[in-house]
Amino acid sequence: MTILDTARKILHEGPICDHCLGRQFAKLSTGLSNDRRGRAIKLVLAMQASADKDDELLETLKKSNESKCWVCNDLFTHLDPWAQKVVISLSDYEYDNFLVGTKVTGLLAENEEIIWAESATTFAEPLKTELNREVGKRIEKLTGKKANLKKPQIVALLDLENDKVELEVNSLYIYGRYRKLIRGIPQTRWPCRECGGSGCERCGNTGRMYQESVDELIKPHLIAAAECEDTAFHGAGREDIDALMLGDGRPFIVEAKKPHRRRIDLKDLESEINKVSNGKIEVVGLKFIESEAVEQLKSMKADKVYRLKIIHCTTEEKLKSSLDIISQTPIKQNTPTRVLHRRADLERIRKVHSADLESFNEDTAVLNINCEGGLYVKELISGDNGRTVPSIASLTGSEAKVIELEVIKVG
Ligand SMILES: [Zn+2]
Ligand SMILES: [Zn+2]
Repeated sequence: MTILDTARKILHEGPICDHCLGRQFAKLSTGLSNDRRGRAIKLVLAMQASADKDDELLETLKKSNESKCWVCNDLFTHLDPWAQKVVISLSDYEYDNFLVGTKVTGLLAENEEIIWAESATTFAEPLKTELNREVGKRIEKLTGKKANLKKPQIVALLDLENDKVELEVNSLYIYGRYRKLIRGIPQTRWPCRECGGSGCERCGNTGRMYQESVDELIKPHLIAAAECEDTAFHGAGREDIDALMLGDGRPFIVEAKKPHRRRIDLKDLESEINKVSNGKIEVVGLKFIESEAVEQLKSMKADKVYRLKIIHCTTEEKLKSSLDIISQTPIKQNTPTRVLHRRADLERIRKVHSADLESFNEDTAVLNINCEGGLYVKELISGDNGRTVPSIASLTGSEAKVIELEVIKVG
């Protein structure tokens, strides 16, 4: 069947606008809008009808241009108002790019099914594809911003049923490193063990085990700067609550959810966080980053350098020789007893790259341990009743225990 035969068949169904007719041939010849395709087809058909003295077809074509389109209900005469509606709802947000989407009504979807079945054309594109593109072009003109199909900052959904625009505002991601300068702060909010977060006597109705966390020391400042609804914190692993995080800090990404502002001065944000957290934590090197970085950060098994203070009852010589051995022997660790209640009991092998003695006293010593990520360093010292082998305790043949822990370097 030729294009004109198919077009004739479609016109036979009822009055149809240029957009809806042209859309049935959208995949033929590029660089054209569907309404121009539709107009061209109607023009050729009208000329043919004149030549053939086909009054019926001429009448059908005339009706087609005067009556409401049965496929889209004249939706395509409202492209400008839809674009304006989107621009108005976007006006509260900072964005560099956007995308238009459409929630099609059941009626329009049904009409589309009918016309595809009747015309049997294989060159059509869906109604919403055309609508998204046409409204998008108009928004580009009105705002000077570009539509972005792959990674839009904001998706404007045309809700045809309810005649309104719904926005999906994608998160803004900020990468940085944090240093934890005092002990007793968890990385993220830790709900009260007693009440699970609802508030009880034990937690003084705060619903939490610790009053502050790295996450919560950052959150209010980002909410203020990005005017966002909420934030989410993603860390590259975490240190124990009682451990310091020093050196150049631990990598993290903080996500501003539904932000109104994206052009944040990160230097300002950084100094604001550091000023208010008053020596508890410090963030450095804040920069904008893509969403994919969160997955990479979470799966990162970075090496760590720990500085730890231990109590022992051995000699300097014995301690030194056991440090030599652990830096040359793969460490076999079963899940530590202290975390067994929330983790599976697995055996893992980790490497210690280097283990040095920084200072030695009669009952205490300070060690620097550089090891693979995922090594439980407290158990490397204590041996955890034989669950970590070898350990400083097993090698010196005496008890040893970490009393202070600092993370000096991650990655
Ligand atoms: Zn139409
Ligand atoms: Zn509680």
